[in-house]
Amino acid sequence: MINCDPLKEKIIIVAEHDSVSAQQINLTLSENGFSDIRHAISGEQIYEILRPFHEQPEKIGLIVLNDNLPDCKLAEMSHSLSCTTDCFVIPIVILKSDQTPSVILPTSSELGYSLIYQIPSPFSPDLLILAVCCLMRLKQERFLRHQQEEQLINELASKSVIEAKLKFLATHDELTGLVNRNNFERQLRLIMNLSNKLKKEGALLFIDVDRFSLINELEGFDVGDRLLVELTILIRKLVPATSLFARIGADEFCLFLENKTRKQAQVIAETIRTTVENFRFFTGEICYSASVSIGITSLDNASPSQHPGEMILHGRQACNFAKINGRDKVRMYNQNDVAVKEHRRDIYWVPIIRKALRENNLFLMFQPVVQLSNGDISHYEVLVRMRGEDGQTITPDQFIPVAERMGLIHAIDLWVVENAIDFLAALPSYMSRISLAINLSGTAFQYPDLLQTIREKLELTWVDAGRLTFEITETAAVDNFERTRDMINKIRDLGCKFALDDFGAGFCSFNYLKTFPVDFVKIDGQFIRNLDNNETDRILVKSMVEIAGKLGKKTIAEFVETPNIALRLKEIGVNLGQGYAFGRPERNLLEGHQVSLAIMLNSARPDVADNLLQENNTL
Ligand code: C2E
Ligand code: CA
Ligand code: CA
Repeated sequence: MINCDPLKEKIIIVAEHDSVSAQQINLTLSENGFSDIRHAISGEQIYEILRPFHEQPEKIGLIVLNDNLPDCKLAEMSHSLSCTTDCFVIPIVILKSDQTPSVILPTSSELGYSLIYQIPSPFSPDLLILAVCCLMRLKQERFLRHQQEEQLINELASKSVIEAKLKFLATHDELTGLVNRNNFERQLRLIMNLSNKLKKEGALLFIDVDRFSLINELEGFDVGDRLLVELTILIRKLVPATSLFARIGADEFCLFLENKTRKQAQVIAETIRTTVENFRFFTGEICYSASVSIGITSLDNASPSQHPGEMILHGRQACNFAKINGRDKVRMYNQNDVAVKEHRRDIYWVPIIRKALRENNLFLMFQPVVQLSNGDISHYEVLVRMRGEDGQTITPDQFIPVAERMGLIHAIDLWVVENAIDFLAALPSYMSRISLAINLSGTAFQYPDLLQTIREKLELTWVDAGRLTFEITETAAVDNFERTRDMINKIRDLGCKFALDDFGAGFCSFNYLKTFPVDFVKIDGQFIRNLDNNETDRILVKSMVEIAGKLGKKTIAEFVETPNIALRLKEIGVNLGQGYAFGRPERNLLEGHQVSLAIMLNSARPDVADNLLQENNTL
């Protein structure tokens, strides 16, 4: 048989004095491809086998050890095989018989980097193989990591830049003042061991800064670094001073909360999330808002033998789901829930979306966008809806994220574009000045057929391209800058306009805006909603308006929910407004609002405006 997995060529020592059991182990291992199996029937013999390899410990794969082996002190052996450096540890699978009293293993600090797993004897072959493979892979990973580090050190030394590496590491610690990943894992291992013994609670928060690469790419590392420092300080203030807090990647943090239940950790995570959401980061005249996605995993999810790396991984997985679900969210790790439920939801929605596309069960709604200077309707935003099985309306937040994950979003985008143009074409001639804004997904520009569809549909219907504006988000543009810009320019050449949607929601970059060919900047609703009683938001909106104005772009405020806010926006100089104050999304175009809205916007008295608005809504 050809052995493809090099791990299976490593030496496995079967330390078992019972010849029947030794034979069974041998058989199980060789059936699973392990080719170099050696036998020891005493502790002394184990050392005899190991001795010739003391210069090449990587050749030894693992020891399967009967805990009753003559002449073998288990604690001593695990100690001597583990307390070398972490990559040369020799993993041990202990076969624990019922008769022997529970083995007292050395404490974690004594064990250093041990890789030990106990399974009951008589053993289950499946469990034995699982334990052997897992431990050997872990060892291999450590070994490779060690090799890479060695290589790096050698390279650096040979170039006489070892100081540079040290300096690099130093600045990284200096940056946030937090422990690094290695340190974190080491301390977490101790905490996990202790908590396990004392049955204590604890939870790990995996915190990832949303869209951080954007700020680094667009504003430079200095600004990115400063943001990380400010976020660190912000989060530090929210948690007990003794909490173990680490920066484990460029924009990834791990926080361990001792003696906290899952519920308590969730409350803390929510506090962190909302505090970061409300935090504003200034650099010169530019202001950013940031958000974090947080995954939580607790010690009751962790098994006693779990490696701290696994706990971090679970936190990361939960965090990834928070990101998939739109970022700025907290998610709890749950083996069944996280992966399976998400998957089930996708499986549930995919056929419904496909059917809706096939059977035209999508429909469009229109929400007016109003000129704040005189209340005239400038255009309408097109918002897609799905008709459910029993006729109920399904909103996009329920099916767009699934469609994005499952690759159906482009079909929806094309459906909306075609139907919106058809809608314009069918309007009576006295409405020929009405124009529409159409949302495009982040991936829309990855497909060349978008341009073709728009061009062909416009030619076919004779609709003027100037009646279409496409709304795109920052993410869409940033994912593939060159291609996106190229495509936008081509669509603009047809005569269509563009708006940058949800502006400010991510790391809004004004530098980016400078080079990006859009006509409108649509300020994200989070800055508008509380404009009335939030001074910071007013300052922010003002600066967005100023800069957009300088760049020759018009501003639109979304989520204008009250007449007061509309008046404020008008004072600040925002050009256009959209929101429930002017009209909700409707199946048909709202007409006849203009006059009262014009009065409302010219009114210096919000109470008068309020009355007018109520009248308006009862029309
Ligand atoms: P968006 O583009 O930011 O659209 C604005 C959303 O805010 C709409 O929700 C709208 O109904 C809602 N809205 C408008 N005024 C107010 C207000 O005053 N207060 C509040 N609280 N909300 C207001 P909707 O229609 O549920 O759409 C949600 C998101 O779904 C959109 O966000 C957009 O990202 C996406 N979407 C909607 N239609 C389409 C589409 O045709 N294609 C694509 N790709 N995405 C779409
Ligand atoms: Ca939009
Ligand atoms: Ca928006």
